[in-house]
Amino acid sequence: MTTTAVAKGPINWPASIVLTLTPLAALIALPLYAWFADFSTAAWISFAVIFACNGLSITGGYHRLWSHRAYEAHWSVRLFFMLFGAMAIQNSILVWGSKHRTHHRHVDHVDNDPYSINRGFFFAHMGWMLRDSQTCKLDLSNAKDLQEDPIVMFQHNHYVPIVLAMNIGLPLALGWVLGDVWGVFLLAGLLRLVVSHHVTFFINSLCHMWGSRPYTDENTARDNPVLALVTWGEGYHNYHHIFQYDYRNGVKWWQLDPTKWLILALSWVGLTKNLKRSSGFAIQKAQLTMQFKRAEEQIARRQARQADVAALKAKVAHEYEIFTAALQEWAKVKEEEFAQKKAQLQQQWEDAPFRARFRELERRLRQQRRRLRALTA
Ligand SMILES: [Zn+2]
Ligand SMILES: [Zn+2]
Repeated sequence: MTTTAVAKGPINWPASIVLTLTPLAALIALPLYAWFADFSTAAWISFAVIFACNGLSITGGYHRLWSHRAYEAHWSVRLFFMLFGAMAIQNSILVWGSKHRTHHRHVDHVDNDPYSINRGFFFAHMGWMLRDSQTCKLDLSNAKDLQEDPIVMFQHNHYVPIVLAMNIGLPLALGWVLGDVWGVFLLAGLLRLVVSHHVTFFINSLCHMWGSRPYTDENTARDNPVLALVTWGEGYHNYHHIFQYDYRNGVKWWQLDPTKWLILALSWVGLTKNLKRSSGFAIQKAQLTMQFKRAEEQIARRQARQADVAALKAKVAHEYEIFTAALQEWAKVKEEEFAQKKAQLQQQWEDAPFRARFRELERRLRQQRRRLRALTA
């Protein structure tokens, strides 16, 4: 199937109207209102607060909780994410989650990835929503678990009334309380919706184009701290595409990922639990694999320039031997751990010595990454 066949899919009118009329209305109404009436501080604060609630409900709720099951959340948290996620007008959790799972499964495929970057920036950003795809039809068979969540299904079955109540009712009520009905409606209602739309869309467009690939180059997803800043941490998209079940996208403690901090903070008060983390060793392994790949490329480039690379080649080969040995040792420790677990299934089991050995292996990989970085610098 070619892309032209997809382009001829019928226009999705509700999405097309919302996605073209809201920016247009904002473009006309906001400057006019600013000129004649000016916005109150309360209106700007309500914009910021609701913008954050929308963003975090999409990243923490729609994405990491429901699409990836990266942790579990108390019903009150799910209710909050359901309401403020609906407010962001990005379809129901059920549809969003199903399409997102398809995106991970078929990432970059021209026909099967619902927002494939290989069909261009505009398509991945918002073009995919303007027409119903002929090649990538909604298939809810990958979202059976979501269909068992009563909060997800309540939202799916009452989506339009919830969207209207949250986007018109809430800003008007808030404006009335704050004594600035139109100011709050325009900023916290209209502008907030347009900005939060495009910020999320960046994750599908720019996060697949602009940035580095420290963990894998098998897909187009990138890590980009600038995009992380505007996407509540989702800019670490290269990491996310290889370790999608991790509740963190910015995996390093210093990487800006407000969604990760929110989920973690909620776990301290018992509102979230079973936070999934990829093992430190697997993360180091992915990074080292990429470093070896880049070292090989560098050697090839230097060889092409007729430079003497024998010494560098030998050093990289030596590092690779150490890497393979570490991988083998890891597998051995895993096997031993498994055997012991099996043997002591009935007893009180102490896994501390294994944890220490795993940590030691991780430490060695970390050191190796530093050595390799210095070698190829
Ligand atoms: Zn992606
Ligand atoms: Zn994802």
